[in-house]
Amino acid sequence: MSDCLFCKIAEKKIHAKIVYEDDHVLAFRDINPVAPTHILLIPRTHMENILGLGDDTAKHMLAAMRQIVADEKIEKGFRLVSNTGEHGGQTVYHLHWHILSGRHMGWPPG
Ligand code: AMP
Ligand code: ZN
Repeated sequence: MSDCLFCKIAEKKIHAKIVYEDDHVLAFRDINPVAPTHILLIPRTHMENILGLGDDTAKHMLAAMRQIVADEKIEKGFRLVSNTGEHGGQTVYHLHWHILSGRHMGWPPG
């Protein structure tokens, strides 16, 4: 998708602070962090949201998530969020998982 921000980050046409990458996924620091650790994990392949996520790519995202948790030393706790659609508060329509940590998370979310 030529007009997708996260596709451009995956293609390295737009700079991001990358913390993890492999053939299937990429993770980078959120430009507007809402927690001391705020990482976005995306598939390299464009899909709008989690409803388009296939089992194979999901496996790679889960493996990457575990690696990031170890690398960032956030085993004490974190929150995994995938805002989906208008009511979910999604603003970028390329699937991404927020990995949030470094402080206590409130519940319910806003
Ligand atoms: P969401 O609102 O769940 O769709 O999340 C989109 C996230 O992308 C927000 O937390 C933004 O701060 C983040 N974001 C937007 N542009 C960039 C960028 N160029 N680099 C890193 N993160 C970004
Ligand atoms: Zn995209």
